[in-house]
Amino acid sequence: MARILDPTADSIAQAAAAIRAGRTVVLPTETVYGLGADATDDRAVAAIFAAKERPRFNPLIVHVPDAAAAQRHVQWTSLAEKLAAAFWPGPLTLVLQRRPDCRLSLLVSAGLDTAAIRVPRHPLAQSLLRAADRPIAAPSANRSGSISPTRPEHVVQSLGDAVDIVLDGGPCLIGLESTVIDARREVPVVLRPGGITREDIVRIAGAVQDGGMGGPKHSPGMLESHYAPSLPLRLNATEVNELEGLIAFGPMPLQGAGLTINLSFTGNLAEAAAGLFATMRTLDRPGLERIAVMPIPDTGLGEAINDRLKRAAAAR
Ligand code: AMP
Ligand code: MG
Repeated sequence: MARILDPTADSIAQAAAAIRAGRTVVLPTETVYGLGADATDDRAVAAIFAAKERPRFNPLIVHVPDAAAAQRHVQWTSLAEKLAAAFWPGPLTLVLQRRPDCRLSLLVSAGLDTAAIRVPRHPLAQSLLRAADRPIAAPSANRSGSISPTRPEHVVQSLGDAVDIVLDGGPCLIGLESTVIDARREVPVVLRPGGITREDIVRIAGAVQDGGMGGPKHSPGMLESHYAPSLPLRLNATEVNELEGLIAFGPMPLQGAGLTINLSFTGNLAEAAAGLFATMRTLDRPGLERIAVMPIPDTGLGEAINDRLKRAAAAR
């Protein structure tokens, strides 16, 4: 059964020892909680897939403490340099060519010749990476296809028996997964919208291309059924009834739902992103038949929020 450990020097040392011994550890990042293991150890990485019951073809993001560490595993590009300088540490993942001498397990790349790599900002993730002195592969710490955890108790609900150590870093500040960018060429290709907005990427790189959805060769992890609560989800609701839970947004929430949670009364998208997954979990309860969602603007972080909502709605 999972043990939730307060962040102390001792618990970080325990977690680092577990990583070095080839075991899995749940670590907080600023995006969501990750189920981490030594990314250079095939058996440790295989244990992540087993715990998540995740399809093998879905590659994993590798976490490293800084850009210099990233460059030991992947072929650096001038675009990677620009994006890393602007957004690392932070919620941006770069997909790059594996180096010929790359020691990352082939399992993290799921058979591709690329690896997805990120420098997290969360201080506990940073401490663990430095103490373990290993690159850590870490997908979200939930069973495959269900909602990503943004608090330690979500991890226990979803993976309770399958994990041992959960480092408690409190609620995740961003609450949405990282933006995944293919940075192999001059123009960045967005494989998955996330915590860094399209506008931010364009500001640094000048342009951006879409590449994610429908491109299994490029982004095998973009399964339709992801982030799914067990209740059906209905988007862009303009009315609501008492059998529905309502995800509201903005100063004028619809009236009449069985239960309403407002992601942000002031219409703040960062606040909405941070609370999104916890809200889906809270509304996913017996007594309700459906979850209705008010329209959310598609600008800035709204793009990633709407991406997750669409996939939760498309799940069945
Ligand atoms: P998760 O670990 O659950 O946050 O999901 C990882 C995301 O990164 C998925 O959308 C993957 O498709 C994407 N990803 C990881 N590695 C690669 C790669 N080598 N090429 C393309 N996309 C990747
Ligand atoms: Mg996930």
